[in-house]
Amino acid sequence: MRKIPPLWISLLLFCLPVLASLPLSQLLGKPLARHMLQQKREEIEAALVERHLALDESISTQLAQFAFDCGPEDMALLRGPRFYNLHIRLQGLILASGASCSSLGLPVPFTTTALPPYSGQEQYGVAATPAQFNTEQELIAYFRQNGNTAYWVLNNSWSHTLLQTPCADCFYLEFSQQNGDHATPLFPRGDKTIKQEEGNQSLSFLESENQIRQTLWAGKALEHYARQQARYYGLWYGAALGSLLVAAYWGLRSYRRSLKGLLQAGLARREFVPFYQPIVDNRSQQVVGFEALLRWQREREMVPPGAFIDYAEEQGLILPMTEQLLERIMTDLPRLAPAQWVSVNIVAAHIEQPHLRTLLQRHGWPSPTRLTFELTERKPITDIKAAIGEITALQQRGYHFKLDDFGTGYGGFAYLQRLGIRQIKIDKMFVDTIGTDDLKRTLLDSIIAFGHESGMEMIAEGVETGEQVDYLRQHGVHLIQGYVYARPMALAQLQIWLLAWQQHHAGEG
Ligand code: C2E
Ligand code: CA
Ligand code: CA
Repeated sequence: MRKIPPLWISLLLFCLPVLASLPLSQLLGKPLARHMLQQKREEIEAALVERHLALDESISTQLAQFAFDCGPEDMALLRGPRFYNLHIRLQGLILASGASCSSLGLPVPFTTTALPPYSGQEQYGVAATPAQFNTEQELIAYFRQNGNTAYWVLNNSWSHTLLQTPCADCFYLEFSQQNGDHATPLFPRGDKTIKQEEGNQSLSFLESENQIRQTLWAGKALEHYARQQARYYGLWYGAALGSLLVAAYWGLRSYRRSLKGLLQAGLARREFVPFYQPIVDNRSQQVVGFEALLRWQREREMVPPGAFIDYAEEQGLILPMTEQLLERIMTDLPRLAPAQWVSVNIVAAHIEQPHLRTLLQRHGWPSPTRLTFELTERKPITDIKAAIGEITALQQRGYHFKLDDFGTGYGGFAYLQRLGIRQIKIDKMFVDTIGTDDLKRTLLDSIIAFGHESGMEMIAEGVETGEQVDYLRQHGVHLIQGYVYARPMALAQLQIWLLAWQQHHAGEG
């Protein structure tokens, strides 16, 4: 199956929630409109409660103080700013005598017709101003006692403002009186046509004391607005969710692709394999052994160790890697000539703890004469005591150790003595100076001289030219590893190379 490029996946992850938000906002239109209707109802109720409290207080104060004679005290109460507030348009008194006065200073003619006939009982009530000249009716609250009437024409303009938010012409509100014996007045507020719309929604609620029923309607306009809002926020939330998904995808991807994750996956898939580089004795032209060099076989790619070995060591993955490598070498060994050995690279951790020992023990101490180990001098051993103990134990089992990269690192000579090592590998850095006047050439000569004096077996590494081979031969270094003979190869390739080598050198040595 073809892999989908990550950019496409990201685009898809981003677009999916954004696109999904569109039909979702369509579906959400109606319930959201219902929710907005409920919210509006709560707003209206809260405004009514607030008005109720304000009116209650001023009305009861006024009633306690009215003389019911339309005299200066009554006028002061009617026009006092404390009582003539934003909830009241107009207020006045109708006296038992038929005289009247109001906060306007004049008698107001409509009041007598708007209020129901006086029944003789003390009572609170509500009525409405007459609907004349196509104007909106206003609510009148009144109180009657001893033939006198006090009335308050309420200001309902707050409801207009309230009904125009959050969208214009989205609500319609009707106040109606639930008083059986008098014609129920209506106070329509907002867009009247909503009441006639098909599929509209309504909510009714009672203002208990006054028995005023309020019915709030909403129709297409609110639904349209709700859908628009849902679409708007849906797009933003969709984009936010999409971005989150994209970020999560890249996070996961980078984790999976992180070197550690990849190495662990490689170990689980047993992708770490040995390549073998021949080591040739230039006296006999015999291949005496091989260095096993780690390769990471990823799909069609062969990753050399430089790209991951230090990190693997840091992350503690070098132990399972060496184990995987060793297991492969053990199955490969029988396919090579019995006299040929294979040298495996190890790190300090292998011998500072009994890791290498337990590994070999677990595999039944495989071929001590054919398996050798090389320990680099580039990185120091911290626990030299433990390393000596481990190496000694393994030497007693018949295994041999070489000191790799000799001359490049920390304590070459000291290591040789303390660890009882008899073989050194002369680093490519020194071999490269052959035929040049590099100062390090004298170092190469000293290393070789030291090797001879102390009876070390020497292997020259990274030998690339015939001139280098000749120089080394003249100086008594005979074991050669390098491109001049062969590069590291997989076993199958190595076997073909070995056949060709034998045919070419038959009869020599
Ligand atoms: P090293 O142990 O010094 O290995 C020799 C390196 O030099 C190898 O590189 C080899 O391919 C390269 N080489 C050999 N002959 C020539 C030559 O004529 N010319 C040039 N230019 N290069 C030559 P490679 O395979 O890339 O390995 C690099 C390093 O990775 C090794 O250096 C060793 O330190 C480490 N390594 C390889 N395999 C293992 C392993 O299994 N375990 C551990 N711990 N380290 C390993
Ligand atoms: Ca090596
Ligand atoms: Ca080396």
